[in-house]
Amino acid sequence: MSAPHKKPITQAYPEPVERLIGEFMRLPGIGRRSAERMAFYLLKASTDDAMRFSKAVADVKQLVRPCSICLNLTDVETCRICADDTRDAGTILVVEQPRDLIGLEQSGTFRGVYHVLMGRLDPLAGVGPQDVAVAQLLERIDDSSRNSRQAPVREVILGLNPNFEGDTTALYLAEQLSSRHVRVTRLARGIPAGSQLEFASTAVLADAIEGRQELAPE
Ligand SMILES: [Zn+2]
Repeated sequence: MSAPHKKPITQAYPEPVERLIGEFMRLPGIGRRSAERMAFYLLKASTDDAMRFSKAVADVKQLVRPCSICLNLTDVETCRICADDTRDAGTILVVEQPRDLIGLEQSGTFRGVYHVLMGRLDPLAGVGPQDVAVAQLLERIDDSSRNSRQAPVREVILGLNPNFEGDTTALYLAEQLSSRHVRVTRLARGIPAGSQLEFASTAVLADAIEGRQELAPE
């Protein structure tokens, strides 16, 4: 015998408010109480403020895209870093995701350009080289017209996270790069093993770039 059908609890908020709370709760780390607080903030805010919030969400989805060269997030065809002629486009720092790039930029040490893989190799989860932007990186090296400001690439710095997947990715890239005439280095091991670049302090990241080490292919 099935339990008698329970009448749903009377909805506490009007449907649009409940829906907004529901959307906030989909955000990482946001529980019901925080979601309610944010929804009420927007309810109390002026229409202008609330619309500005809503437009920011829409713009992020409509205007932000990957840079055509390095895959960094941008709202123009070529990102600011790739287009900046005060930077050394012959040195590419390879990172897993845009958030890593932000941390490295804040350290203020690196004056080259980046390549965002948009992931990392994870053989156990079935993520292979075709699933991340490896081919685009090799194209930039093999054909300088595909690189930032058409510069020939002299050095590739591997800025992968110091964990199993990051090491696997670094090893794979080092192999791919060994037959190409580029210097291959990796960030110094100031970053504790198993940690993530995006949470490292700017001082640690600056040291990691300054103290980068030659990666000799075996
Ligand atoms: Zn770019």
